[in-house]
Amino acid sequence: MKEWVGEKPLIIAGGEGCHLVDTDGNRYLDGVSSLWVNIHGHRKKEIDEAIKAQIDRVSHSTLLGLSNVPAIQLAERLVKVVGRGMACHAPTRVFYSDNGSTSVEVALKMAFQYWKHKGVEGKNCFLSLNNAYHGDTIGAVSVGGIDVFHAAFGPLLFRTFKAPSPYCYRCELAAEYPGCGLACLEKMEDILKARHQEIAALIIEPLVQAAGGMIVFPPGYLKGARDLCSKYGVLFVADEVATGFGRTGKMFACEHESVVPDIICLSKGITGGYLPLAVTVATDEVYNAFLGEFSELKTFFHGHSYTGNPLGCAAALACLDIFEKEGTLEKLAPKIRLLEEGLRTLSDLPHVGDVRNKGLMAGIELVTDKKTKEPYAWEEKMGWRVCYRLKEKGFLLRPLGNVLVIMPPLSISEEELSGMLDAIGEAVTECCG
Ligand SMILES: *Cc1c(COP(=O)(O)O)cnc(C)c1O
Repeated sequence: MKEWVGEKPLIIAGGEGCHLVDTDGNRYLDGVSSLWVNIHGHRKKEIDEAIKAQIDRVSHSTLLGLSNVPAIQLAERLVKVVGRGMACHAPTRVFYSDNGSTSVEVALKMAFQYWKHKGVEGKNCFLSLNNAYHGDTIGAVSVGGIDVFHAAFGPLLFRTFKAPSPYCYRCELAAEYPGCGLACLEKMEDILKARHQEIAALIIEPLVQAAGGMIVFPPGYLKGARDLCSKYGVLFVADEVATGFGRTGKMFACEHESVVPDIICLSKGITGGYLPLAVTVATDEVYNAFLGEFSELKTFFHGHSYTGNPLGCAAALACLDIFEKEGTLEKLAPKIRLLEEGLRTLSDLPHVGDVRNKGLMAGIELVTDKKTKEPYAWEEKMGWRVCYRLKEKGFLLRPLGNVLVIMPPLSISEEELSGMLDAIGEAVTECCG
């Protein structure tokens, strides 16, 4: 913080399409979608108008004991969108909250209480992955697995079991299991076999561990994890807060491996990156466990003041309309191809150790030595140095340690994307040599 306070701050005063404009009038390409939220660009006419129209009706009323028109419309719409890619037994019951972390808290409490209502005792723990990120509230931190963010709070956290991260570039099991063969799934099964009676749910970021460093799962891993949960009677919670709404090339990452979660968490892109809103969507099976007489107290006691905010819901409805009207997902293929070609070119640079992507989510891992995969010492701030250089060139990116993150709005043009890839190549060469 001391260093940051000493720097000249960048203050955003405006936005247009994929660009942000600062108070001095400089334009920047928003290369990480304003921290992974923006989908269709800034000041998107349809979303602006939907919010303005909702303001003229009502801006907020509580969802505790009441409902509101856009919250009902959005719930109905989301169930269709989730169900479209997931065939039968898809989650259909929408529980509103207001950010990704709270959507995760809701999922954890719901999974825990589900088993209580079913009369199953002892499932007081969760299984999650090393390198996982599920948010910054204490429950979400408990299932997190990123030491720099989470270790300081260790004494405050509840107990979880941690399965290995499927991080193929730096495999934690390489010594034990040369040649992979999804050894990380075997490790997960070892935990489940021994401890399933204590585990309420597995929570996982499907296909990409984003905040962990844009770690892309090997094919089959996600499906394998889902099957293990079914086999051992553990709920499967998909945290699609980062991957949802088209980032991976499909509406939801689970669709790539025909995985149907018991509970799915959505936020970030849900409003097109305009307003804080989140949902935790559960299957009928989970929902039904909470039905009971008033006196049975099966109520799910969880509600936030701004739960189901009508302005957020109106923005989300407009965001989904644009997906359909503009064919947002259908237009991604050439952009993803362009990104992948660009990444291949970047991977030839002497200090690029690994490049990886799923859809328009990508990571470029910088190393001091390509052969040994030796990382830059983290005090060197190499990721940041490259991003500072990119800022001078008119591109806003935010690294994760030594990993440069590329996660542009889905509406980015091919010209904008290739311009950014060229600039990244220059900045890496200028900073790393
Ligand atoms: C960002 C993120 C969260 C937390 O969302 P917030 O809205 O920042 O609280 C949770 N899970 C994943 C996978 C995320 O990327």
